[in-house]
Amino acid sequence: MSTAVALDGPAGAGKSSIAKRAAKELGFIYVDTGALYRTIGLAATRAKVDPVDSPEVDALLEKIKVELTFNENGEQIVLLDGEDVSGEIRTPEASMTASKISAIPKVRAYLLDLQRDMAKTNDVIMDGRDIGTVVLPDAQVKIFLTASPEARAGRRYKELIEKGMSVKYEDILSDVIERDYNDTHRKTAPLKAAEDSVTVDTTELDFEQSVEAVISVIKEKI
Ligand code: C5P
Repeated sequence: MSTAVALDGPAGAGKSSIAKRAAKELGFIYVDTGALYRTIGLAATRAKVDPVDSPEVDALLEKIKVELTFNENGEQIVLLDGEDVSGEIRTPEASMTASKISAIPKVRAYLLDLQRDMAKTNDVIMDGRDIGTVVLPDAQVKIFLTASPEARAGRRYKELIEKGMSVKYEDILSDVIERDYNDTHRKTAPLKAAEDSVTVDTTELDFEQSVEAVISVIKEKI
């Protein structure tokens, strides 16, 4: 039987970079489920469809094809109708559209099997918002990774500046707060820690310490 680690938490807690490293050390596949919501958001933006529950979004879901694959370095690639959109989904605008579109129950249902299939045949660390509560409720390890909004905004700011984007810390912080609100208040699969999860707070931890904390929870459980 394959092993699944569910890693949930708010935006910017460091889930993806920590999960990537932990997956490498443990020989697991890292699955970034946020990329899937971002891709549907991008499809909506391209089609000029509002990210709200509507027949237009239903029709869009019928038309598009979202696939997950991995390159030779084991990095996740997300395809929209066969096109690699992994880079294009990483802007602050794409983050906000993803946050809005992910509140739509049909969008969540659309992505459920794709996520579950990944865990059926592979040892995975899957990061998202509802992995431990909805997608993989039987995961052997569930971690809720969090940090203060200021710490999360500060990290995201640094990341975007290093990529050469021109952004303001205050805007990133208000985006983080708005996305937290959207993610925790939506009706379907809101962001919350699974009852049987272990919380890791990285506010005061650097990257290496956070990786260590996550790996030690995983090793304890498997
Ligand atoms: O993790 P990331 O920031 O890439 O996710 C983008 C958006 O997708 C989040 O703000 C969240 O609303 C949504 N999401 C979700 N469920 C997941 C992963 C992401 O609702 N499992």
